[in-house]
Amino acid sequence: MNLLKNLRDLFVPYRCLHCKTITHKNQKFLCLPCSLQLSHTNFTNYNNNPLEKLFWGRVEIHQASSLYFYYKDSPIQTLLKSLKYRGLQNFGTDAAKTLIHELQNTSRFSNIDLVIPVPLHPKKKKLRGYNQVETFGKTIAKSLNATYIPDGLLKIVHNKSQTKQSKEERHNSVKHIFKANPKHNLNYLNVLIVDDVLTTGATLLACINTLKKAYNVNISIITIACVV
Ligand SMILES: [Zn+2]
Repeated sequence: MNLLKNLRDLFVPYRCLHCKTITHKNQKFLCLPCSLQLSHTNFTNYNNNPLEKLFWGRVEIHQASSLYFYYKDSPIQTLLKSLKYRGLQNFGTDAAKTLIHELQNTSRFSNIDLVIPVPLHPKKKKLRGYNQVETFGKTIAKSLNATYIPDGLLKIVHNKSQTKQSKEERHNSVKHIFKANPKHNLNYLNVLIVDDVLTTGATLLACINTLKKAYNVNISIITIACVV
């Protein structure tokens, strides 16, 4: 198999996922110039960071972080699209490893008991075959000695894509689409909710409100990328 792989590498050049230029196969996902365009937020060990401020006055959260700033038509958009639609789950694992590196320099997020992903509707999960945030969430949970609970939150309404909706429409359309899974008792636990990208915060806000309504929980959030 290795020989076959080596032969393939010889004849099928490895290309950057974003700009498609031929690049070294050891360069993961992106060529060097594109990977240098990834913009780290450095929010992980930063109290009262802009992501946390986004939730001020809306809901109480413990801590929030995101690895990268999200920009349209940029390498981070390509990576997240590949993670979501083309099965590039290794990127989720890699992003988590980078974030874990940041966690080593802070006591923030050290008290997490459970990691819960923003869920997909079962129909969508069946169609896609996986939740795009799973590898990211599982890897973070392992490093925090926390338990990963894929079904802590359930998506009970199959809503349409939010991408063309206004901020107001997004908040209204996601308000009642999640449900806390009664199978798990989350009372008095520290829960970390993970997602791939935060844009308006409407989805995460709906998840947080759903869990807080059902249980007395402390909530933190971490996403791979964010718009703030
Ligand atoms: Zn490139």
